[in-house]
Amino acid sequence: MVQSLNHSVPAFDIKQQYTIIEAEVSAAVLEVLASGRYIGGPIVAGFEQQFAAYIGVTECVTCNSGTDALFLALKALNIGAGDEVITTPFTFIATAEVISAVGAKPVFVDIDQTTFNLDVNQVAAAITRQTKAVIPVHLFGQPVDMAALMNVAKAHNLVVIEDCAQSTGANWVGQKVGSIGHIGCFSFYPTKNLGACGDGGAITTNDPEIAARLRFLKEHGQKNRYLCEEIGVNSRLDAMQAAILQIKLRYLDFWNNQRRQVAVRYHQYLNQIPGLIVPQELAGGMGVWNQYTIRVQDNKRDSIQSLLQQRGVNTMIYYPRPLHLQPVYENLGYKDGQLPVAQQASQEVLSLPMFPELSEEQQNHVIYSLKDCLA
Ligand SMILES: *Cc1c(COP(=O)(O)O)cnc(C)c1O
Repeated sequence: MVQSLNHSVPAFDIKQQYTIIEAEVSAAVLEVLASGRYIGGPIVAGFEQQFAAYIGVTECVTCNSGTDALFLALKALNIGAGDEVITTPFTFIATAEVISAVGAKPVFVDIDQTTFNLDVNQVAAAITRQTKAVIPVHLFGQPVDMAALMNVAKAHNLVVIEDCAQSTGANWVGQKVGSIGHIGCFSFYPTKNLGACGDGGAITTNDPEIAARLRFLKEHGQKNRYLCEEIGVNSRLDAMQAAILQIKLRYLDFWNNQRRQVAVRYHQYLNQIPGLIVPQELAGGMGVWNQYTIRVQDNKRDSIQSLLQQRGVNTMIYYPRPLHLQPVYENLGYKDGQLPVAQQASQEVLSLPMFPELSEEQQNHVIYSLKDCLA
């Protein structure tokens, strides 16, 4: 299955992973098809139990996507108009979009140079009387310093909703992300570390009241069938996806470990190159490398990306524009240069090919091409 290098190295490849588990997945999918139980039922409930156990929480509520997970979390906490929620400007739009969608106001705090994550030291200064929650994002698979963040949150009585979409399996000092804050939100979008063959999401918590409210809200705000007490939504993980995720969950640690080995190797060969900064893990953090994102300095990122492309190395830019400078958030009044670390990151980041099955040969091609382009 290793692609010829005359060919190209893709940024990610989700088909290779499927070939490894094809027989298991086919059998499970056929079983669901034959069962006639396509929505809910024991397979979805079984996955929720397994995922809760894996993350190390008592409750898991599945839903339709990572975006829905975040939206439902805010709804469950009754966050809405007049409230503020602190988050990072250097993330996928979904993180902030849901804050706006419930009628609250996103407040962006700049990021840390080294990890690309929310700078925990700047959170306290952004807190007002309206602040209800913080949404840290464990970006690219790297955990936020959760010990420090929980201290700030506790001191100011804030709820912490972890955006774990890119970090399933990562941990901070041995505790899995999604089990440290009050609520954890996961995405099973196909390119995430634990990816379905379609959309899917999950919410984790140790609070049974929050879990009950999440279940109520994701089923149209009905406690009993056809007794509607609050405006909710329809957000479900279907049985077929749950069956596939049950299988993939058993491989997740193995795959995350393979990603880790790729990261170690990239680090070893790219560590000392002038003009290039490689990602670092904080002491205490164990990442799962959804992305391996370097910084290319001196305004060379875009030219390096196209030179790599010419050599068949496909890279991605996550994210080319921080959220506080998006047209949709013009109304929030952020100025060019106001969150300088995030802005600079958006101009320098380049995500190299990263997936568990990336061969040594492919890695070498990435490494030598990059050195060549920078020379
Ligand atoms: C993917 C992602 C989401 C949204 O997940 P979906 O399942 O695509 O809705 C949210 N936050 C971050 C950081 C993501 O990477």
